Amino acid sequence: MKRRSLLSIVLIFTLISAYAQKKPIIGVSSVATESSASAPLTYINSIKRAGGVPLVIPMTSDKEELTRVLEVIDGLVMTGGEDIDPLKWFNEEPVRAMGGIAPERDEFDITLIRMAVEKGLPVLGICRGEQAMNVAFGGTLYQDIPSQVEGTFVKHSQNAPSSYGTHTIDIDKNSKLYKILGRESVVVNSFHHQAVKDIAKGFKISARAKDGVVEAIEKEGDQFVVGVQFHPEGFVSKGDDTFLPLFRALTEASK
Ligand code: MN
Repeated sequence: MKRRSLLSIVLIFTLISAYAQKKPIIGVSSVATESSASAPLTYINSIKRAGGVPLVIPMTSDKEELTRVLEVIDGLVMTGGEDIDPLKWFNEEPVRAMGGIAPERDEFDITLIRMAVEKGLPVLGICRGEQAMNVAFGGTLYQDIPSQVEGTFVKHSQNAPSSYGTHTIDIDKNSKLYKILGRESVVVNSFHHQAVKDIAKGFKISARAKDGVVEAIEKEGDQFVVGVQFHPEGFVSKGDDTFLPLFRALTEASK
């Protein structure tokens, strides 16, 4: 009897440590065309470099399908892309400088983020993913920085490659982002003309560009729900480790 209980303790311990060492599965929101559902390799490779197993999620807003997806994944990366429809998601008429929108993708991204956050999963939103995160919880966006943000002077749509940083951001010392990166300012790449305007309830701004444009947000509390306006995967996938801690923080939180 004693030996049996000792054996079961050893077995349980082995199972727990095997489970703890398993690489977390990180869902990646896909970009859909008429013939494919895919995600750029920059995101895929960054997740792999951070010790996660990337799993691309085809576009759907069917909640039953997404519920099953969320049972499989341990964390989530929301990728960059088109502008978010201002009329549908934050009740603003589109300005002339608005970019291309993708209504089905809006529905998919926002439904998926809401469900993942509600389930308590760690989420990293990148560029459009950050904006969708803000809108999903009641925040709003600038549709076009140059024509809508007063006093903006930073170039937020760079021509240089995504592995090259072009503008500085200042990070709030009381933020998860600061804890993760350990620096008050860092140079980022920039490929956006939309940006967070009113922050969603329960979220806070964690970084800004020198012209005040929001460059990062995060959910208050312990859950890892972090959004960045820049593209950390542009650096990490090219072997630049500046933002690897961001992907590591996601995979760690996903274990
Ligand atoms: Mn920027």
